[in-house]
Amino acid sequence: MTAAMIDGKQIAADIRAQVADRVAERKRLGKTVPGLATVLVGEDPASQVYVRSKHKACEQLGIASFSHVLPASTPQKELVELVDLLNHDDKVHGILVQLPLPSGFDEEEVLLKVSVNKDVDGFHPINIGKLAQKGRTPSFVPCTPAGVIELLKTTGISLEGKHAVVLGRSNIVGMPVALLLVKENATLTICHSRSHNLPEITRQADVLVACVGKAEMVRGDWVKPGAVVIDVGINHVDDPASEKGYRLVGDVAFDEVSEVASAITPVPGGVGPMTIAMLMKNTLRAAELAD
Ligand code: NDP
Repeated sequence: MTAAMIDGKQIAADIRAQVADRVAERKRLGKTVPGLATVLVGEDPASQVYVRSKHKACEQLGIASFSHVLPASTPQKELVELVDLLNHDDKVHGILVQLPLPSGFDEEEVLLKVSVNKDVDGFHPINIGKLAQKGRTPSFVPCTPAGVIELLKTTGISLEGKHAVVLGRSNIVGMPVALLLVKENATLTICHSRSHNLPEITRQADVLVACVGKAEMVRGDWVKPGAVVIDVGINHVDDPASEKGYRLVGDVAFDEVSEVASAITPVPGGVGPMTIAMLMKNTLRAAELAD
């Protein structure tokens, strides 16, 4: 079997176009322009790239964006005060503190300070708590996990009663993906670095979500024929043949697994583009909630 490709690039582009339309409509109606404030602490090059691409997306969709860059030496208190200032700024509907913060910062205190109604990253403990509770709806859902579910739904893959296996349990990806899958009525298994017999568990999955950060760890014989495989991983591997000297691969051995699965996301072009699209959607939602 050759798996169908789940085209994250196209699905993300469609979401962005819908957001742009709704932002334009707000402007026509004289409503507030959705605004996203980013807070970047330190000089981590990957974080700088992510934040830049978020501002670029805002610009393309007509969303206002406000950049705050602080040195890694900033006292915790100053960072918390900045977040509080943004909480009270009417032009700012969403606040995104780029993670991870440099070592020494108390990430939990900062995330707790972000207003639940401006928590477009969905990492506030109240929003995560609601995600974990039956019958509760968080104001915002973390962007990459929301993107995973959106890819599945848009592709018409039903989750109800399916056995979903999530490889990874991080606060940012694995755990919220798992919680969302349960909300969609999947039966869930979560695996992590202490799990035994991984291939035996993953072979039971109807839907397998890989978010471990280990290049091509999931092999063809880890996957049940006909399963749906979502690859969240983004890993750099050396490749002297490429201009940059490296190439990006996922957590899934794409060539092998696409021979077994019924549908699969590529890397790049799968989950990656969904993250920013969902952030834009969350920022629009924050503005709508503030109306
Ligand atoms: P973390 O390193 O925070 O978490 C990795 C998880 O995988 C942990 O729960 C860890 O277990 C588990 N794990 C690690 N090694 C193994 C192993 N050998 N066997 C089983 N489980 C293992 O990573 P993130 O969740 O932040 O990111 C995961 C991947 O997703 C990365 O490649 C990252 O680049 C990518 N990513 C992609 C995004 C996108 O937009 N597409 C956005 C965010 C991340 P334990 O808890 O026991 O340590």
